[in-house]
Amino acid sequence: MYQETVAGSDLTEIEEFLGRLGLDTRHSRRLLYWVYRRGIKSFEEINDIPLKSLRVLSENAVTGLSSPVTSEVSSDGSEKYLFTTPGGLIHETVWLPDGKRRTVCVSVQSGCRMGCRFCATGKNGWRGDLTAGEIINQVVSLPHEVTHIVMMGMGEPGDNIDQVIRACRILTAEWGLAAGRSRVTVSTVGVTPSVLRLLGETECNITLSLHSPFPDERRSVIPAEARWPFTETLSLLKQYDNRIRRRFTVAYVMIEGKNDSQRHLDELKKLLGGTGIRVNLLPYHPFDEDDARSSDMPVMMRFKHELVTSGIGASVRKSRGADIAAACGMLSAKSRSGVKRENSLN
Ligand code: SF4
Repeated sequence: MYQETVAGSDLTEIEEFLGRLGLDTRHSRRLLYWVYRRGIKSFEEINDIPLKSLRVLSENAVTGLSSPVTSEVSSDGSEKYLFTTPGGLIHETVWLPDGKRRTVCVSVQSGCRMGCRFCATGKNGWRGDLTAGEIINQVVSLPHEVTHIVMMGMGEPGDNIDQVIRACRILTAEWGLAAGRSRVTVSTVGVTPSVLRLLGETECNITLSLHSPFPDERRSVIPAEARWPFTETLSLLKQYDNRIRRRFTVAYVMIEGKNDSQRHLDELKKLLGGTGIRVNLLPYHPFDEDDARSSDMPVMMRFKHELVTSGIGASVRKSRGADIAAACGMLSAKSRSGVKRENSLN
């Protein structure tokens, strides 16, 4: 028997669904509260909707939420979780505590088809798209408080844009998770039509993975550049009437001898000066037999210093979770073939 999935639904859809079941539609907000804020796995946990209605609900729907299958803890306090969907799509989620900030880095696909050179996810190919409910599940089913959400795990948001936009709406809606829009960031290689939709249909922050300010060079590490030149995304961000002060950022993974020269820095300044777009400088994490190395910290700090003195907001992101392969570009869900299960949650 087909059962509706509540996680991933919006308020109107739930009202219609309850109406179809002959239930009081005034229970819709309570139902979504229990699913999105309390993360319930079974309707039996609800204590403020009549039992008779809950019985009908249980026969016709599932919450769509599930606990992570395994987790690993890094020596720096970050944690990596492995989730699986009812269809068997494995995906990883990283929780990064930093002072009062508790960031969760969620996946939007199982694997990825963008094939970026520096990324373990891209190397392993694409296995499937996650639904909005499965994206949201990674936030509400973590055994931790979350203050910020970044779609920067496995997968390219621009390649699953309908579900990503739906997830952004649920994350920020008052009937959903009610996260402030400034706490939700979508990171993309710059799939231009999807960036346009993110700008028009959400109010979330956007990060563009740049990694080189030169198109030919960028194409050699991010093949998507050939189809969607980064200059198109940059001009969309520049033209956007940013009255609500959304944060636009460029992510720049720094690789020694590849993209950390003065020529790269000067070009970055030329591209981003006066745009209000910030730069996030990230260390590179080599994997497998890759002989490329991260730029040294003094080089990264010089980039940051020169960008900031040119009026461009810049930060150097600390490396987190590298010992459990949870840092940027390291997620690969190797667990599919039996990862070290240090902490089985089920
Ligand atoms: S960096 Fe992002 S877009 Fe590129 S292959 Fe990895 S997950 Fe996909």
